[in-house]
This record gives sequence, structure tokens and C-alpha cells, in this order.
Amino acid sequence: MAKLNSESKNELKTRRATAALRKPSVFSIIFLGDAHVGMDQRLNPTCKYRIKNYKAILKSINSNDNTLISVFHGGDEGDKGVYVQNFVSITKKLMNRKHYRIPYFAGVGNHEYQGDPSLSEYKKYISSSDNDVIRLYGSNYGPKVAVIMLNTGGPSDSGCKNGSGTIIASSISEIKNSAAYKAVIKDKTVKIIIDMHIPPRMPVFRGNPPTHHRLCSNAETHFKNFVNGIGTNRILFIVTHHKHGYIQPKINSRYLYLDKIPVFLTAQGGNCDKVLSSDKRSKYSYYKIEMSTNTASSRDNYKLKNAYRLDVDVNTSKVVKAITIY
Ligand SMILES: [Zn+2]
Repeated sequence: MAKLNSESKNELKTRRATAALRKPSVFSIIFLGDAHVGMDQRLNPTCKYRIKNYKAILKSINSNDNTLISVFHGGDEGDKGVYVQNFVSITKKLMNRKHYRIPYFAGVGNHEYQGDPSLSEYKKYISSSDNDVIRLYGSNYGPKVAVIMLNTGGPSDSGCKNGSGTIIASSISEIKNSAAYKAVIKDKTVKIIIDMHIPPRMPVFRGNPPTHHRLCSNAETHFKNFVNGIGTNRILFIVTHHKHGYIQPKINSRYLYLDKIPVFLTAQGGNCDKVLSSDKRSKYSYYKIEMSTNTASSRDNYKLKNAYRLDVDVNTSKVVKAITIY
């Protein structure tokens, strides 16, 4: 079976050459995370994730949308390192359209490390590299936007074994040494998105909760240096996952990283039945983020336009609510 991310890189070439996405004045990406396929097979699961929920979400994504260029799933595809193959076969099947398959990339979460410290399942079925830089453009077509897929580490909740932050540090140096990253940085018209499993310390999570489900302080230092090195003006936004019980409200100053960069948090791709929200439909949701450019004839200088949280009814696979969060 071809690896999901390598196959998606080829599909992306076809996708960006379609008329609507060659030089789009508006285009969109869908982000989700934490499908946790197979987690309900545990003896005493803390959360009842069900494959049915993930399938319903994929069916709702696979609707007619000319602006959609790609989908990113930001980690925790399976559970304890296994079920990754299952995740991939479900995803490939449900991303099929009549004439193409929607490009779909999956990153590394802490659950990929649990019971599989060398990420053998992830590397076998998803990608041989646990970090990547996905360029949505080629030499002729596609918006000049790149998505950095950053592995924040595992297997613990903070991604930092004993608080060392070594995994994110080696992720960052691997990315910086890649030809794709160097090409992106060199061309200043290219805007950057970072997708990462564990959230950084944006103001809303300072001390709330104090110690878990966000980067440990060493990891945070590495990440902050990385972002400052790229330049906050070049980063359109950051997308994170991992905090399953948390539903993010409208983006305000408490969700800006380094006072400038919007941070989105979507972790309801499975999902956990213990979500802390009075609106039960938000339990099964994903984000659709739209970007636009002022110059319709150009492929560069894109801006963040809108972000929506789309809530899915898992019985009908339909979006039942669209919340504008940015
Ligand atoms: Zn996680």
C-alpha cells in the first residue's frame, strides 16, 4: 500500500492544476485531528472513540467544494501505535471523488509513539519522514502557501520525556535542513502555516491547566525560537490538536502566539465522549480555513480570511452547524 502522505503529494499536483486552484483569489484547507481509530478497543477506554464518527466526518468533508485544496490531520491517527493501517485505508476510501482523490496529509501525535517508540507503523503506512514541508504550489500553479508539519513528540502528554524537549528540537533541525524548507524561506512571497499536535503556550493555556496537553517549557523555547527565526509576519496561523475535551471559542487576543499569530485548536476528529461543551454537536467537528489574496492574477501574498468550525451529525454525516471562529 502506497504511503498516505507520498500519495497525497502526487494528488496535490493534480489538485492545484484544476482551474479553480491555479491562481485562486480564495482557497481553503481543512484541518482536524485525533481520530484515535481503534481506541474503543481498549479494555477500559477513558474516551469512547468510534470509527463511525471518523467516517461520518470524512463523508461530510468529501462534498463538492471547489475551494478545497487539501486536508491535514494533525496526529493521533490510531491508538498506541497500532490501527494506523486501518486509519489509512478508511481515509483513502472516503477521500475518493469521481476523478481524483482529495490530498490528505497526516502528522505525528503522542499516540503514534505509545507502544511504538520508533514510529514504525506511522513510517510504514503514512510517511517515511515524521516531519514535512508541504508546498501547495508548484512552478506553474497553486497558491504560494506552505504547510510545515512539525512533530512535537511523545509519548507523554507534553511530548517531552522528562521535560527535555529533544524530539521537537530534532524535528526543527530536520525541517530546517530540508530542501523544501530552504526553498520556502528563500521566496519571501510564500506564506507559512504550521500544523503541530501539541499546542504551544498561548496565553489562554498559561496555567490553565498548568502542566498537561501543551508543550513543556524546554519544547516551548525551541518552538519560539523556530517561529521567531521564520518571522511572525510570514506565518499565517498555527493549527494544533491534542486537547480533546476542549472546544475553542472565537479567536481573540488570548489565542495569539507571540501576540501576533492566530492559533487554532481542533481535536474532535474521533471523538471523545467527554467533551467539555454544552453543545453536544461540537463533539464531532473540524475546521475549514479560508485564505485570500488581493491580487487575483497573482499566486502570492495570501491572508487569513475566515475560519469555521463545522459540527457534524455522525448519524447523517452532514454538517449541522458552522461557527465562524475567525
Ligand atoms: Zn494527543
